Amino acid sequence: MTSFDTTSGRESFIIEQIIFENILFILNWGIGFILLMSFQFKGIPVVSFLYLILLLTVQVLLKKHNCSSCYYYGKWCHLGWGKISRILFEQNSGNLNIGKKLSISYILQLPLITLFAIIAGLIYGYTFWSVGLLIIFILVNILQVVLRKPVCKTCKMRFTCAGSAAKT
Ligand code: SF4
Repeated sequence: MTSFDTTSGRESFIIEQIIFENILFILNWGIGFILLMSFQFKGIPVVSFLYLILLLTVQVLLKKHNCSSCYYYGKWCHLGWGKISRILFEQNSGNLNIGKKLSISYILQLPLITLFAIIAGLIYGYTFWSVGLLIIFILVNILQVVLRKPVCKTCKMRFTCAGSAAKT
């Protein structure tokens, strides 16, 4: 069992915050999927589906390699993912080094999808919707970055989590 400094930080988070943060992630990933839909093969948006498969795989693996050894395993962390981890995996069944590497996907999401969306516009043409969605996608990502620090400051994992914004 991993030991943490649990003397401060919230024991659990309110459902409204959990829902709000998950909506932001669903918006982020959903718009990312739509922005990649221009790349098609025989009418099938193959790049979007590849993105979805990769995203789901990384998210499930993160529940094992990060969340299964988190203080909030089985609890309501700010995303509620500690509960999902408990349903899917045994406690401490992951490898934190792998989890750390997989967490890079959060950093790559904004630049990669933006780059692909710009390339799609150059090849297939920009529309009102494609530009509007790209702007919303960037704004959602900025909002998630802005919210991260105050949320991390209230998390019991803030000193041990590799991605904690509360250490800076
Ligand atoms: S705080 Fe982070 S690592 Fe811990 S359970 Fe929630 S999402 Fe997973």
